Amino acid sequence: MDSIQLLSPSVANQIAAGEVVSRPASVIKELVENSIDAGATSIAVDVTDAGRTLIRVSDNGCGMSQADAVLSFSRHATSKIRQADDLFSLHTFGFRGEALPSIAAIAQVTMQTCTRDSDTGVRISVDGGEDLQSEPCVCDPGTVISVRNLFYNVPARRKFLKSNQTEFTHIMTEMERASLAHPEIAFSLSHQGQQVLQLAPSAIRPRIVAIFGKKMNQVLLPVEVETPLVRVSGFVSNLENSRARGSQQFFFVNGRFMKHPYFHKAVLQAFDGLIQQGDQPSYFLFIEIAPDLIDVNIHPTKTEIKFQDEQVIFKIIMAAVRETVGKFEEMPTIDFNVADMPDIPAFDGRSPVSQPKVEYNPDFNPFRQSGGGGANSRVEMPKRSTDDWTLLYGESGHQVKEDDIPYQTAGDFTGTVLEPDAPKALCQIMQRYILLEDHAGLRVVDQHRAHVRVLFDQFMEQVQSHAAVSQGLLFPEMFCMSPTDFQTFQTLKPRLESLGFDLSDMGQGAVAVQGIPAGLEGHDYENIIMGMLRDWTENPCADEDSQLRALALSMARSSAIPAGQILSADEMNRLLQSLFACSLPSRTPDGHSVFIDLSQADLAKRFT
Ligand code: ADP
Ligand code: MG
Repeated sequence: MDSIQLLSPSVANQIAAGEVVSRPASVIKELVENSIDAGATSIAVDVTDAGRTLIRVSDNGCGMSQADAVLSFSRHATSKIRQADDLFSLHTFGFRGEALPSIAAIAQVTMQTCTRDSDTGVRISVDGGEDLQSEPCVCDPGTVISVRNLFYNVPARRKFLKSNQTEFTHIMTEMERASLAHPEIAFSLSHQGQQVLQLAPSAIRPRIVAIFGKKMNQVLLPVEVETPLVRVSGFVSNLENSRARGSQQFFFVNGRFMKHPYFHKAVLQAFDGLIQQGDQPSYFLFIEIAPDLIDVNIHPTKTEIKFQDEQVIFKIIMAAVRETVGKFEEMPTIDFNVADMPDIPAFDGRSPVSQPKVEYNPDFNPFRQSGGGGANSRVEMPKRSTDDWTLLYGESGHQVKEDDIPYQTAGDFTGTVLEPDAPKALCQIMQRYILLEDHAGLRVVDQHRAHVRVLFDQFMEQVQSHAAVSQGLLFPEMFCMSPTDFQTFQTLKPRLESLGFDLSDMGQGAVAVQGIPAGLEGHDYENIIMGMLRDWTENPCADEDSQLRALALSMARSSAIPAGQILSADEMNRLLQSLFACSLPSRTPDGHSVFIDLSQADLAKRFT
C-alpha cells in the first residue's frame, strides 16, 4: 500500500525549515533515523573516506512500494504527518519530508527497497536531484540507500569539510547517539571495509558498556523515577569517576538525543559539593514524556527540544540523581551495615568477566582521630578520592585536619634543591593559595596554576631537547576506550610518544601504558590520556607544534597538584622556586593569572 503524501504548502511552511545536510554525519543521522522510523531491527552503516566517497545505510525495516520510493525524493513528501496538529504528537524522528530530497540534491544517490509482502523491489537512482530513474529489481525486504560523492556538485560546500579524522569523529558521535537511544536495534559501522562498531541488540546498560568500554560497568549508578508528568531513567557515573574530562553526557527524550543545557545544570547541581568544582559526571538519562508536552520543531537539526514544564522537570531530574548518588555513594561511608546495601547489577552475564578494579581507601579508618601515616602506600590510591573526601568534610562543616587527609606527595619536587634565597611561603590558605611576602608586598599564588606552569615548561623542554624520558612501568596498565576516542588516539599516538608515553595498541580499543613521561609517576594515567584525547577532540589543531603544546598543557593540567591539597612548607617553597625559575611565571600557558600582588600602596588604600 502506498502511504507517502505531499504535505500541503500551509503545513509545510509551519515546519522549521532548514538545511539538514552539512556534512557526512548529518546524512547518516537522517538515513539512520529513517531506518529506525521504518521499524528496522538491524541497521548497517558503511562509509568510505569518512563519507565523502560513499555512505551506505542498509536496514531491514518496512521498505517502500515502488510509488512511495519515487515520491520519497520529492520535497515535503512524508508518510509521518498529514496535518499541522500531528506536529504536536510526534512518535517518529522524521516529519519534514526533507531529508531524501536534500541529500539527493547534493550527491549521487541510489536506493533499493522492497516491502515485506512484495516479491519485487525497486531500484532508484538520482544524480544531483535530477534525472530520477527507477526500475524493478529483486532484493531483500528493507531499504539500502547509497550516497556517493557528497557535495560533488557544490564544490564550495565540499571545501568546508574537515579532515577525514574529524568527519569520522562526527559520524561516530551520531552512531553513538542513535545506538544509545535504541539499544534494542543491532547497529554496525564500518570504515574503509573495516568493522568499527558492532552492537547486538541488548538492554541499555550492556549497550553503554559495549560502546564506552567495560570499565563503565563499575562506574554506572542507576537512576529511576516516575511521576505523572515524566519518567526519568538511566545512569550517572559514581563520584570516583566524575572527572573534568572524559565524561560522557547524554540526554534522550522519547528515544531522541537532545542537548539541554538547563537539564544539564540539574545533573551538575545534584553532584554539587560532592565532586571537585569543574569536574563533570557522565550521564545517560532517558526522559519519557507525553509528546504533546514537548516541541521538537524548534531547530532544523532537531537536537534542541522545548519542554512545557521545564522547572518541574529540572527538579525531578535533580532529585532523582541526588537520590542515586546519596544512596549508592554516601551510605557505605557512614553506614557500616553493608548487608542492606543496594544491589548494583554489575554483571550481566553477557560481557566477558574481567578482573575487578579495586577502588577503596586502604587507610581509611572511621575511628581514627589523627595520625595519618601510611603515606607511602597511598601512591596507588585513586587520586580523586582525596579531593572527594576533602569536599565531603568541607560540605558538612567539619574542620579538615591535615592528618585526616590522605596525603599526596608532589613527586617532582623531591629532586629540587632549595636555594637559600628562594622565595619563602608564609602559609597556605583555603587549601589552594600560597601566600608569600616579597619586596613589592603580599603575593597570592594559585597552587594549581603554578604547578601547571612548572609542569608545562618541564614537558616542553623535554620534548624540544628530544629528551622526553619514558619511565618504564613495572606493571603496564591497560584500559579500554570507546571507538571514537580510539580513532583520536591513533592520530595522536606519535605525539603522545614524543612526550614520553610508551603505548601499545592491544586491539578492540584496548591500550596498554608501558611507559610514562618522567614526572607523572603515581598518577592516574588513564585519566591523563583520556583528558588529552578529549581536549584535542574539542579543540583540534592542525600543526604539529600546537598539537604538542596542547597535549603538554592537558597533561600538565591533569597531573598538577589540585586545589584542595594541603602542602607542607617545604613543598610550597619548592613549588615557588620552580615557578619563579620559569620564563613566564605570572601566566599559565593558556593565559590565566598564576598569582596576584597586593602592594603596600594597595593595602594602604584599603585602610583609608
Ligand atoms: P521524513 O523522514 O521527514 O518523512 P524523509 O525525506 O527522510 O522525510 O523520508 C521521506 C519518506 O520516505 C518517509 O516519510 C518514509 O515514508 C520514506 N522512507 C525514507 N527512508 C525509509 C526507509 N529506510 N525505510 C522505509 N521508508 C523510508
Ligand atoms: Mg527522515
